[in-house]
Amino acid sequence: MVLEDHRIRQSMKHANDLFTDDFKGTPYWWDRTPPMPVGGEPPASADVAVIGAGYTGLHAAIQTARHGLSTVVIDTEAAGYGCSTRNGGHLSTSVKPSFDALKSRYGESLARDILREGQASRDYVEQFVRDEGIDCDFHVPGRFHGAHTRRAFESLRRECETPHPVLDTGAFVVPPADTRRELGTDLYHGGVVFPRYACLDPGRYHRGIADTATKAGATLVTGCPVREMQRHAGGFRLATPRGTVNAKRVIVATNGYTGALTPWLHRRVIPIGSYIIATDVIEPALMDRLFPTERVVCDTRKMVYYYRPSPDRRRILFGGRVSLRETDPRRSAPRLHAELVRLFPELDGVKISHSWGGFVAYSFDTLMHTGEDDGLFHAMGYCGSGVGMASYLGMRIGRKAAGAPGGDTAFDRIGFPTRPYYTGNPWFLAPAILACRLHDRYAR
Ligand SMILES: Cc1cc2nc3c(=O)[nH]c(=O)nc-3n(C[C@H](O)[C@H](O)[C@H](O)COP(=O)(O)OP(=O)(O)OC[C@H]3O[C@@H](n4cnc5c(N)ncnc54)[C@H](O)[C@@H]3O)c2cc1C
Repeated sequence: MVLEDHRIRQSMKHANDLFTDDFKGTPYWWDRTPPMPVGGEPPASADVAVIGAGYTGLHAAIQTARHGLSTVVIDTEAAGYGCSTRNGGHLSTSVKPSFDALKSRYGESLARDILREGQASRDYVEQFVRDEGIDCDFHVPGRFHGAHTRRAFESLRRECETPHPVLDTGAFVVPPADTRRELGTDLYHGGVVFPRYACLDPGRYHRGIADTATKAGATLVTGCPVREMQRHAGGFRLATPRGTVNAKRVIVATNGYTGALTPWLHRRVIPIGSYIIATDVIEPALMDRLFPTERVVCDTRKMVYYYRPSPDRRRILFGGRVSLRETDPRRSAPRLHAELVRLFPELDGVKISHSWGGFVAYSFDTLMHTGEDDGLFHAMGYCGSGVGMASYLGMRIGRKAAGAPGGDTAFDRIGFPTRPYYTGNPWFLAPAILACRLHDRYAR
């Protein structure tokens, strides 16, 4: 621990040397797909108003617009400014709790349904990208899940060798001696490959969804926060700085950016910072040594690191939850850099070209949630794994709001828990995360 802190302090001390001359504190993805211009006039009335123009909101809007409902999507910032153009682009089956954990909470039948939703979310994105012809570097390289301790490897191995009760994962074990076939590091004790996990360029993907929503007839109004929402007999009145919208139904799609506008939801999601750096360009031979396959990677630590080569294989995009609510990307970067170099000592000296972060939404039961309260719909709480799930549950909640078939989800059948005295300010995170870090450092 002392050594590790020393390493981070050294990185911080020489922080200015860590950054390239053309360093950007914005997502790497924005170089290729800059944020969409903000603007648009809010209509006086709409059948459906969607709050939030990320994956959830736009997938919902595609459904409501395609079902003939006038739809406006409103966002405080540019469309996609939240997590949906900031993420790592890893596409998995998203559900974190195991089958046994779900079974003990909800019984066998609902546990199976929840896990099937995870698979459906991954498959939905593949199908959507194909059907809409979205050029977003979607491919299926699989994911290597590295074991950070011997014990973690044994647990991964046991889990992998037991037939999955619900899904056909195709997962296979990578014994410790073969780790270098997957990754150029000696710090993992083997791992497991999930060959069906996919990846994409999240900025291109988001732009493709926004274009699809607009073509379907939805109106985008951005740079325009919804400041107040009042219920009345015919629906809802949304106040924005650019005018009032009367909407029959509202879909709240604000995930990690959920605020006081929706106090009931605010009390149920826990915003947590997640951060990524992109390295300067790396020599092809070195990249091939470090990443001998195309796979994306994450590991078994509680404070997980997730990383991958950029789609052109010229840079490494290295992410982790290294801070709680840091908003200065120059401050989050040294911690990620220190871990990157610990894993891959050959990268000592490599500079950082981009650093950014965003706020994911955890929930108290580590599950995502959908629901409705008399015309007010929500889908959120993806626990850092929303590329597939936000897209899929956005689609489902949009159908539900449209009164169309296919709107129900397994998550409608579970409560959305909160905790006494929690009002949206996660005061308990700092000690909880410190405990996770200590656990990760001392685990054997
Ligand atoms: C650094 C990082 C890496 C990640 N990596 C991955 C990954 O590799 N794989 C994966 O599956 N997931 C990943 N995620 C999570 C994933 O990106 C999110 O779960 C997903 O994008 C959530 O989409 P969303 O549309 O629900 O929310 P967001 O995209 O966050 O959009 C919410 C929007 O709501 C708007 N909003 C909030 N309040 C208001 C208001 N009052 N009025 C108007 N607008 C409002 C915000 O401005 C924001 O644009 C990552 C997240 C981050 C931050």
